[in-house]
Amino acid sequence: MSKLLIFAAPSGAGKTTIVHHLLNHFDSISFSVSATTRAQRPHERDGEDYYFLSAETFKQLIEEDAFVEWEEVYKNQFYGTLKREIERLWQENKDIIFDIDVKGALNIKKAYPEVSLSVFIKPPSPEALFERLRNRRTESEESLRIRMARVSEELMYEDRFDQVLVNDDLEVALLEAEKIVGDFLTSSHDDTHHQ
Ligand code: 5GP
Repeated sequence: MSKLLIFAAPSGAGKTTIVHHLLNHFDSISFSVSATTRAQRPHERDGEDYYFLSAETFKQLIEEDAFVEWEEVYKNQFYGTLKREIERLWQENKDIIFDIDVKGALNIKKAYPEVSLSVFIKPPSPEALFERLRNRRTESEESLRIRMARVSEELMYEDRFDQVLVNDDLEVALLEAEKIVGDFLTSSHDDTHHQ
């Protein structure tokens, strides 16, 4: 049975780096490609990083009940996990890793409680987070401000996750992520059920 590894974090907590590391480290894991209506960034590839959709197509898919979960993460920017994406990876017998927002993470966990592990990645401090986001230089000042406003809201969800991973020192966080995921992938169904 495939397992679901759900990673959520406030923007800039290092989630994407950790998720990429785990994808390289564990052969059995594949990335769940989300659908989004936000603009494609220069280094991103359609169908690999996201399925980039028009707002119209996205809304059509909502009506068709094609999503396990979807959120308007930022105003007029929709993100969602397609049922057919999970089914595709299931058919390949893959464990599935998700890089999604905190609400989406809890909804996936609710939809598949017995096979899911939810992990909250915690940034060291709001200041450090702001610096990281700014250094990333993918965001305008306005978009930075919007993202930071969201962080304090997202930090309140920490307690509802199975595991909390503090990303203070990245090397340490990567090792801890390997351990958390390794333990979960080798645990029997019964262990996960009683977590
Ligand atoms: P970004 O625009 O930086 O790629 O993503 C913004 C936020 O949306 C991140 O927290 C990311 O994890 C989240 N996100 C990406 N895909 C999904 C999804 O399918 N569902 C939900 N709920 N959030 C997502």
